[in-house]
Amino acid sequence: MRLLSWTANRLSAMLKQKGGAFMQNWALPEINYALCDRCGRCVEGCPTGAVDMTAQGPIIARPDDCTYCAQCDALCPQGAITCTYEIVWEAKSE
Ligand code: SF4
Ligand code: SF4
Repeated sequence: MRLLSWTANRLSAMLKQKGGAFMQNWALPEINYALCDRCGRCVEGCPTGAVDMTAQGPIIARPDDCTYCAQCDALCPQGAITCTYEIVWEAKSE
């Protein structure tokens, strides 16, 4: 997972240089507001600052900055924010 996250960071940076965004909205971490107690750990722990706190709870305020590293998922004590997809890299067949 660590290697995949590093690769995702590199890919995100490469795509941004080319003017494209890496994350699509449907693939962003999911937030269950019924479980969230607004402790703020996901906001403080996000390495790219993609998460902001609102009156409702955390939101992915800057989706283009999300690298899908799953740090927010790992830090959340309530299981309220989850990265439901696993990034898998496959060699392109010729
Ligand atoms: S870490 Fe979990 S419980 Fe805390 S604000 Fe984020 S989503 Fe909510
Ligand atoms: S997956 Fe990583 S980059 Fe995306 S919001 Fe969570 S901690 Fe931030």
